[in-house]
Amino acid sequence: YFIDEKCLKDEEIRIDAYNHKHMQRVMRYHNGDQVICILPSAKTYIYEIIDIETGLLKRVEELHENHELDVNVTLIYGLPKSDKFEWVLQKATELGVKRIVPFLSKRSIIKTDAKTFSKKEERYQRILKEASEQSYRQMIPELTQLITIKDLSQYLSDINLVAYEEASKRGEECCFASALKQNYQTLTIIVGPEGGFDQSEIEQMKALGIQECSLGKRILRSETAPLYMLSVIGYSREL
Ligand code: SAM
Repeated sequence: YFIDEKCLKDEEIRIDAYNHKHMQRVMRYHNGDQVICILPSAKTYIYEIIDIETGLLKRVEELHENHELDVNVTLIYGLPKSDKFEWVLQKATELGVKRIVPFLSKRSIIKTDAKTFSKKEERYQRILKEASEQSYRQMIPELTQLITIKDLSQYLSDINLVAYEEASKRGEECCFASALKQNYQTLTIIVGPEGGFDQSEIEQMKALGIQECSLGKRILRSETAPLYMLSVIGYSREL
């Protein structure tokens, strides 16, 4: 369970209503049962349930676990249709992304703006939290506000790669997996919406020093591409 700062008091936790409901009604925990809690410091502890009725827990011991990727990956994602976006939020979290930046690109089918987008914030945060818990993450990925191309430069990293299907034609030197052989601690990957990026968007990205890369010989759907990239990153760092 991810615990808010306001729920902490010394070695005790008074859990919030959402986690309380989950412990009591979904998991049907009893007094004396133990649960894993991740504090805002990203430290992980075992807590014992002292009183399930009031949601009072007491710290038992620290767990020295780390389920995070050893690099910070930002995914800038050309906004697809809503259900696909939600699916990618969940799966990218499972695969270890640290930050997701929704990007309104020229060919995004969905017509929205930052204000309308932010109305779904609560729902998106819940998807991120539940996926983080499911994957034993130590942190919930950050979801930024909806951006347009003029804001891109704020989210760049040591290496910045835009998946561009035209790069496939240029072969090995544009291969995504080879780009990962460089040294980096932070990495930004950029994927387009269903219709791909407009050539002018690719030119603007290149002017910011973003490298185009190929994801291989086949064209992947917009929701498959970020998951392929995150899987390859995980493979290159962990396996
Ligand atoms: N409109 C494009 C077309 O029909 O050729 C396809 C766009 S694709 C469905 C959506 C996004 O996935 C692209 O903008 C790109 O970021 C990424 N993508 C999919 N397959 C790719 C590949 N083989 N190489 C590089 N990027 C790819």
